[in-house]
Amino acid sequence: MKRKLIFNPAGEREAHSRKAVFGNPTNIIELNEIKYPWGFDLYKTMGFSNFWIPEEIPMLEDKKQYESVLSEYEKKAYELVLSFLIALDSFQVDMLKEFARYLTAPELEMAITAQEFQESVHAYSYQYILESVVDPVKADEVYNYWREDEKLRERNQVVAEVYNNFINNPTEENFLKAVIGNYILESLYFYSGFAFFYTLGRQGKMTNTVQQIKYINRDELTHVTLFRNLIQTLQKESPELFTPEMEKWIREYFKFAIDKEIEWGKYVTQNQILGITDQLIDRYIKYLGNLRMSQIGFDPLYPEITSNPMKWIDEFRKINNTKTDFFQRKPQTYAKANELKW
Ligand code: ZN
Ligand code: ZN
Repeated sequence: MKRKLIFNPAGEREAHSRKAVFGNPTNIIELNEIKYPWGFDLYKTMGFSNFWIPEEIPMLEDKKQYESVLSEYEKKAYELVLSFLIALDSFQVDMLKEFARYLTAPELEMAITAQEFQESVHAYSYQYILESVVDPVKADEVYNYWREDEKLRERNQVVAEVYNNFINNPTEENFLKAVIGNYILESLYFYSGFAFFYTLGRQGKMTNTVQQIKYINRDELTHVTLFRNLIQTLQKESPELFTPEMEKWIREYFKFAIDKEIEWGKYVTQNQILGITDQLIDRYIKYLGNLRMSQIGFDPLYPEITSNPMKWIDEFRKINNTKTDFFQRKPQTYAKANELKW
């Protein structure tokens, strides 16, 4: 697959001739006409309406709770889940750059640039959570868990494999596989971790961390939308990519990803966390898998599961603060930024 040129005078200018991928753009960002309004809208939502700053969320209560309220199992799960989320967002920051090189509509490239920035905010959030809640030795340990914990190392490897395959061998087929991998990462891999945090939060535990996770979750859902729309656009514009073998691969990869996510969820919680059981994790992830498959036109793998067994999460994850509250609480941060002298 050929990367697009930085400047291509022979490229096509008209918005109607744009393609999401495999187009021939001049690479000048022209926005007078937009071919994919959803891409431009997502850019604005991710870049501006949903902008947030991890440091603006106070973390003091969580430090006390981590030390005196959490059980040993809850602590371990908290750390392992964070460690995995750190890996996921790390992979995203880098992989989104790769995807961007092959997107041939400026509004989509802008959207993926905003997404990449958000993933780096998430990396910053994890650092800020660790710095606020645990001691520096533990924080260092959490970053390094993947070396010590075989399951986490394997988990990271499995997630990154579909990306590494594209880096090593950038074919059109591997591109589509990486796009599907991204969609699954955004829409499935984060979610047993989120469910764990929300289960704690629902019991009044670690509510500061949970607030950070809610912002991250809100961002991840816009990323799911971006990649769902990209896949749907590829289905329309480049149907030749979706061969019967590819469709079979996609179904099998979903099955594989769902199994791995359930396995991971069970491993981190050890069936020892109040409010979340192995059975709940199993059903919740299969439910999400069904939903994500149907959103890109595939039949669900588990048709017997038709409702969300953790339905309360949909309500719970909503952010109560409006954006205005968020900014009014600490406007001086912005004043300070303006005063910087270089
Ligand atoms: Zn993220
Ligand atoms: Zn994301």
